[in-house]
Amino acid sequence: MNLSPLPLAVFVADARGAIMSWNRACEKLAGYTAAEMHGRTLGDLIAFDDAAGKEASIQARVDIESNGSLICADGRRVPVRVTVAPQSLDPEQPGNYSVIVVPRGATAPSRYSLIQDLPVNEIIEGLPCVFYVIDQSGRLLLWNHQLEEALQMASEELPTVEVKFFFEQSERAHIVQKILDAFEYGTSVHEAELIGKHGRRTSFLFQCARTSLGSLPCVFGTGLDITSRKQAEHVLKVRERAIYASVNAIVITCCEGKENRIEYVNPAFERITGYTLSEIKGLDPRFMRIEGCDVEEQKRIREAIDRRESVRVVLRNVRKNGQLFWNDLRIDPVRNADGEVTHFVAVINDVTEARHYERRLHHLAHHDPLTGLANRTLLQERLKQAIQFAARNRMIGALAFLDLDNFKHINDNLGHEVGDIVLRETAARLRANMREEDTVARVGGDEFVLVINDQGTPEQVADLVERIRRSIATPVIADGTEVVPGTSIGVALFPRDGSTVDKVMRAADAAMYHAKSLGKNNCQFYSSELNRLVHKHLLREASLGRAIGNREMVLGYQPKVDLRSGRMVGAEALLRWNHPEHGLMGPDSFIPVAEQTGLIVPLGEWVIDEACGALRSLQALGIKDFVISVNLSLRQLRQRQFVERLGESLHRHNVAPCCLELEVTESLLMDRPEEAREVLGRLKLLGVCLSIDDFGTGYSSLSQLQAFPVDHIKIDRSFLGGVGRNGHAVITRAIIALGHSLKLKVIAEGVETREQLVFLRDHDCDQMQGYYFSPALSQQGLEDMLSRDVRLNG
Ligand code: C2E
Ligand code: MG
Ligand code: MG
Repeated sequence: MNLSPLPLAVFVADARGAIMSWNRACEKLAGYTAAEMHGRTLGDLIAFDDAAGKEASIQARVDIESNGSLICADGRRVPVRVTVAPQSLDPEQPGNYSVIVVPRGATAPSRYSLIQDLPVNEIIEGLPCVFYVIDQSGRLLLWNHQLEEALQMASEELPTVEVKFFFEQSERAHIVQKILDAFEYGTSVHEAELIGKHGRRTSFLFQCARTSLGSLPCVFGTGLDITSRKQAEHVLKVRERAIYASVNAIVITCCEGKENRIEYVNPAFERITGYTLSEIKGLDPRFMRIEGCDVEEQKRIREAIDRRESVRVVLRNVRKNGQLFWNDLRIDPVRNADGEVTHFVAVINDVTEARHYERRLHHLAHHDPLTGLANRTLLQERLKQAIQFAARNRMIGALAFLDLDNFKHINDNLGHEVGDIVLRETAARLRANMREEDTVARVGGDEFVLVINDQGTPEQVADLVERIRRSIATPVIADGTEVVPGTSIGVALFPRDGSTVDKVMRAADAAMYHAKSLGKNNCQFYSSELNRLVHKHLLREASLGRAIGNREMVLGYQPKVDLRSGRMVGAEALLRWNHPEHGLMGPDSFIPVAEQTGLIVPLGEWVIDEACGALRSLQALGIKDFVISVNLSLRQLRQRQFVERLGESLHRHNVAPCCLELEVTESLLMDRPEEAREVLGRLKLLGVCLSIDDFGTGYSSLSQLQAFPVDHIKIDRSFLGGVGRNGHAVITRAIIALGHSLKLKVIAEGVETREQLVFLRDHDCDQMQGYYFSPALSQQGLEDMLSRDVRLNG
């Protein structure tokens, strides 16, 4: 069925039925031109089927359906349906009539054939909108009751008023323009508010189109009430405005599956983060997170987004300029009509300031106001963590209690202000010596506590604590007065001395009391075994480095006597450390440390230099052919250019190389025999004497030693101790005999008794050294003895 629109054949007739206008559709249908039709009547054109036929007036056909035949120009008769409608709705004032002619017939029912059956009046009145027809003067020709209601006017009031007066003054020009547009271009659309007689305002969407009623051009249209839409729009606008103006940053993201991309951010977001919408649109908002920071919070956000749920977290994000900020973040899903989540709205609240304030409060609650150090609360927290950390990582941690030795005295005699200065200075020194990850706390008037993390050995802890002790013991200038605080320190190690906060604290406290009881300005460990170890270590380590410069090192000279003549032929230089606090210390207590630390090299050089100095001064006294021997350690011997330096030393003091003897031990030679042989060879070339010290204590045999260019061997004193006992006597005898067979002079050391002396003489030993004749002497003492020519008697 072809429903293509046919142009509607409509013409206008006056009250007498005379045809006044004739449209093109009429022309097409009936074959007459408009000019041909002018003046003809309805009855001329249509043969009505009803009885009244040609005689019936046009008024009689209003609102009734009449069938008839259209008499066409070519003589055809086309069955038609005729509808007559008055152009004026006022029955009192009849005007012209519109006559609509629609062909009938089963063969071509058209849309218009259906339309012509419609009760137009009823439809217009039943429309869910206002309907109107306006003529070119801007007045209403036709309207429905909906318009009357909107205007709060009775129907008789309407035709007299120009439509523009139904609108706000400011709108009127616009309204007129829109009507003119419709006349000119065929259609127009606009939104406007109709204002009722009593002030009611209703928003309408007007859509009008040009048409004509007969020859009368007009505009008809509908007005759709859009008040509620307008209200909704307004609400949205207000909300949009609110989002825009919000002080909180707002981010709207669009989510699809796993993706979540930024669609909108408000100006506050730009202000807070520094990013503009254009820079970050389409990005995942996680670009602001800090990797590895607030991991728990980040996870919660992720999970909430995956589950399409709301979430609130406080976490750190980073601004465009790299600065951190605390973000009190709330994220809510937005669902569409189907309940599906399409977007998330995130509100970012920059709480950095508040956090700082919170931090400040937290700081106040956890720190000592005078020094800014941690207080007892924080200390316990940190200690707990440190103990757990140490246990987990198999590291040593330490807790040190410090008590200023004379603080009460400072406070009482110099006043509290000076006391405060000392406390603050102490705090600063403690902090300066500790690492960031360690804790320095003040827990009482002059009590400080340190939590030291991950240390390798107790010695390491001891070094650190010792450094701290020394730094506290340097004078503080307070108010023009010099105050020397001094501190007693107690140290507990964890987990060794305890695995709970309580136990470790008690241990450190006990150690501190011990330190105090031992006198001031010292440090004690909780475990006594550790104390021994650590103190030894500290003693040596502490100031060995400075000992040479401080002239704390001295050489003792132990005479060597020729067993045949009884004359002093030489002396062994033996090193002593005249420690400012611990007095004179023998080499056994510091040589091993010097070897470990490499200090033996400068120390050894000093010894050689000093010995050469002594030789020089003996020569000056006229004592010739006197040999001073010095002990060498392995590290010295391995020192590059050792031989050259030795030569320089001899040269500088103008000493003949044969006056200097170097003592090396068996183990030193056997460690790297090739290397030793090479160095000894060069030393021999230089002209110095070489002897093997402590002979018999190693595992080498004399034949092995043959390979080395040595001059003397020294029998270790342990063999003389038991000269009375057979075994030792045999060894001593054998060494002497073997030495002689290798053309080496044999020296016995550690000779303490006459019995030993006799034994050595009996077995033809060459020289002796020992307390029986003399202990080590000062250079002065040695010179005295030599000038007096003291001899071994008997
Ligand atoms: P050493 O070279 O065997 O020195 C002999 C040690 O025996 C010295 O001990 C000396 O005081 C001690 N002594 C001497 N006569 C007697 C005695 O009649 N009875 C007893 N019981 N002991 C006696 P000291 O001075 O304690 O030296 C110990 C070791 O330290 C030395 O053993 C030497 O190996 C080393 N040493 C000393 N001075 C130096 C040095 O300047 N450089 C190096 N590298 N080592 C040195
Ligand atoms: Mg020696
Ligand atoms: Mg020896």
